[in-house]
This record gives sequence, structure tokens and C-alpha cells, in this order.
Amino acid sequence: MKFGGTSVADAAAFENVARIVAAEREALPVVVVSAMSGVTDNLLAATIDSDVDKAIASLEPTFRRHHSVATKLLPASQAEQFVEQVSSAAGRTGELLRRLAQDPSERKVLQDAVLSVGEMLSSALLAEVLTHGGIQARQVDARRCIITDEEHTCAAPLMGETFLSSQNELRPLLEGNVVPVLGGFIGATTRGVTTTLGRGGSDYTAALIGAALGAEEIQIWTDVSGVLTADPRVVPEAQTIERLSYSEAAELAYFGAKVLHPKTIQPAIERSIPVRICNSRSPGEPGTLVGPQTETSSRTVKAIAHKTGVTTVQITSARMLGAYGFLRALFEVFERHRTVIDVVTTSEVSVSLSLDDASSLPAIVEELEQLGTVRVEKGRAIICVVGEGLRGTPGIAARVFSTISDINVTLISQGASSINFTFAVEEDQVKEAVTRLHEALFRTNKRHKEHRQ
Ligand code: ADP
Ligand code: ASP
Ligand code: MG
Repeated sequence: MKFGGTSVADAAAFENVARIVAAEREALPVVVVSAMSGVTDNLLAATIDSDVDKAIASLEPTFRRHHSVATKLLPASQAEQFVEQVSSAAGRTGELLRRLAQDPSERKVLQDAVLSVGEMLSSALLAEVLTHGGIQARQVDARRCIITDEEHTCAAPLMGETFLSSQNELRPLLEGNVVPVLGGFIGATTRGVTTTLGRGGSDYTAALIGAALGAEEIQIWTDVSGVLTADPRVVPEAQTIERLSYSEAAELAYFGAKVLHPKTIQPAIERSIPVRICNSRSPGEPGTLVGPQTETSSRTVKAIAHKTGVTTVQITSARMLGAYGFLRALFEVFERHRTVIDVVTTSEVSVSLSLDDASSLPAIVEELEQLGTVRVEKGRAIICVVGEGLRGTPGIAARVFSTISDINVTLISQGASSINFTFAVEEDQVKEAVTRLHEALFRTNKRHKEHRQ
């Protein structure tokens, strides 16, 4: 059971989590928890502030929020002990921030150490709250379970080590009927240096732990009722999707549905474990169930995802025509600069692709220019229409493009899995495009369904 930041935002939210865990007590849950909402952002901001004293002072309210939950929910002696724990964490954080200011070469290592404080504190606090609520619970240091490579700020777990360590740490507790509570998002290298899995990574921790233990289900508890047909911040009338296949969920997560970290689905697929996304504010609702089944839905399109801040790059070269080895040379440029490519389309003489992370772009462009003419467009957004039913349903492209015919669309791709249809638009038009597409693809479906019944 993974609880996101908003599920542990304040004392009332912690109490609510305790009720949800208590209701699942019989199923022997393992609890994974994010930092309290906003805490990771605040810690990160402190690592960027050039004035260390100001940065340290800026974190006072963040640490006080933990005190406040403890004093509201725990008996005095237990609260006092926890407040001491928070004070020493605050002291350590201050030291790390000072080291960071003195030695920026170690930035990523120290940043991970600072950010880990959020999850270490929320998990310690939740374990205390559960124990006080009559549930035998114990905090487990996630860094003893999630063992990663040394790629600080976006570390990749070493699967064998992670599975083994998680089993060794967690099984004895479960056998003793104790609920283990661990912070998401954080891990450690084989040498024990703290790492993090990338922003939003607590979902991934839950999936790794679930897979390591062969869990019956991986539950992601958040602030919305499952995966919705579109981002609710753009389309307020978006509806919960009852069921998704693993591939559908993976595509949605990858193309911007923030409700699931993109890597969450992989460990679940490998062990065929269902993933359920539930609303901690409305625990009675079934939410969304993600599983191996590719169910035939009356809806061809299940959801629309989108992400902004995308850069597209087009490389045009007559040398491509009939040549082999060209694409390889091109992709090697991105590999050398450790830059991930999202979407790729090719014609006879040009390749277009999209990137999330454009930080190495100047160097990349310099090398690409040796291969052909390069055009870079910043401020783009990717829209991705997803559904198993897209396989073999003709006319989807026509429907999509006629709905947004006045919006300039580039980089069109039907994913190799043929369950997604992806394209780029200008960032300032993405909300309009997603709203219109949702209206066209979902309203009509609903009317069809009502008509047939
Ligand atoms: P948590 O802190 O629980 O991990 P997140 O903020 O990371 O929560 O993810 C939940 C948020 O994801 C929702 O509040 C919603 O705004 C956003 N979101 C974006 N796309 C979708 C979608 N298709 N379905 C549900 N939520 C989405
Ligand atoms: N606390 C981390 C973040 O804000 C991890 C997570 O919430 O999943 O990115
Ligand atoms: Mg999240």
C-alpha cells in the first residue's frame, strides 16, 4: 500500500491512512509512504538556494509540520521522542546544505541525501501513528531494501539485490504480524550511499517491494479516484477508468499521467501483480485496476495523456536516402549525451524526435549538425491517445485531427504496440486540444453507449 504526499499532508490525513491500513490488516500489508506533500519541493529548493543560512531557515516550517502532526496524534512521551528525531534530522540537513555550498562537485550525491530526509521522517511518523492506533508497525529504512546503481537523482534499482534485501528485511516482520513502513523514492548504492529514484518515485518503490514479495496486489493511494480519462487539472469532467491493461497504463504514465510514475508498471508485469489506484479521501471507491487482461471495452479510446516542456528536433539529410548506419550514428549522439528520446518518426530524408530533457541539447545539436540540417523547436507538448481498442480500429486519426484541425500538429506516431496514437502540438495550445479531444472522444462514446442500451 503506497500513500502519496497528499495522503499524508496533515494530522487528519495521517489518521485517515491509519484507518485504511487497519482495514487491510488481515492481508499483511507493507506500507510505502512519500514525504508529506510539498516537503520534497521545499528540500530541493533549499539545495538550490545560494544563501545557506536562508536555505536552512526556509526549512523550519517544513520540520515544524512534522512536529505538529506528532503532537496532535501521539501521546506526549512518544511525540517528544519524535520531535527530537526531527530536530536531529534538521541538524543533519543543515550540515549537508553547508557541505553542498562548499563543494558543489558533490551536488547530486548531497541533494539525494537532503531529499531522503522527507521520506525518512514521514515513514517514521506514520509507523508511530499506526502503533499508537493499535497496529503493530515498524519503520524500515528503505535504503536497506532498494539497492541501486550510482546514478544519483535518478538511480536505477539493481533488481537481484533489491529483491533479496527487501525479502530479508520485510519477511521476518510480516511473519511476526508487524506492518513494515518504509519511505518511497529513496534507496542506497551497494556501498550504502543514499540515492533517489527520480521525482514521483515512491510509486516505483511500492511496485519493487510488491514484486520482491510476490504481493497479491500493489495499491497506489492518491488524491484522485484512480486513473482518469484525462488529467483532471485540464479536464475537470474526466472520469475514472475501471480497468486498464499493463500496456495502456504504462503508455499513459510515460506520456504524462502523473498519477503513476512511468516505471511503476514494469515490476508488476514481471510478476503479474495487479496494480490498483485508489483515492485515500474516498477509500470506498473501487478506483482503477491495472492488470494483464486486455479487456474489450465499448470504448476504443481509454484515456488521453499529455505532457508539456517537450523539445522536438528534426534532422534532415539527403545522405539518409538509401544509406545504412545513419540512424545508428544519429542515436549514438543521444546515447553519448545520456539523453532519452521519447517519440521518433522518420521519412526518407529526415528524422524527427522529441525529448523531455533538453539540458545537453547545445552539445547534441553541434554533433548532429555533422549529420545534416538540424531544426529545434522548444515549448512543445506531446498528446497521447491510448486504448487497446485502437488496434485495428480505423478512422481514429481522422477523428482526432478533424477535432483539432485548426491546431498545428507535428511529429505524429502510432506506437509500435498500436495501442497509442501520439503527436506534438505547441505548448500553449495543449489544453485546448486535450479539452476538445476529450469532449469528442468521450462524449460521443457515451452517447453511442446510451443509444445502444
Ligand atoms: P501522489 O502524491 O499521491 O503521488 P501525484 O500528484 O503524484 O500524487 O499524482 C496524482 C495527480 O496526478 C492527480 O492529482 C492529478 O492531478 C494528476 N493526473 C494527471 N493525469 C492524470 C490522470 N490521467 N488520471 C488521474 N490523475 C492524473
Ligand atoms: N517525495 C518524492 C517526490 O515528491 C517522491 C514521491 O512523492 O513519489 O517526488
Ligand atoms: Mg506521485
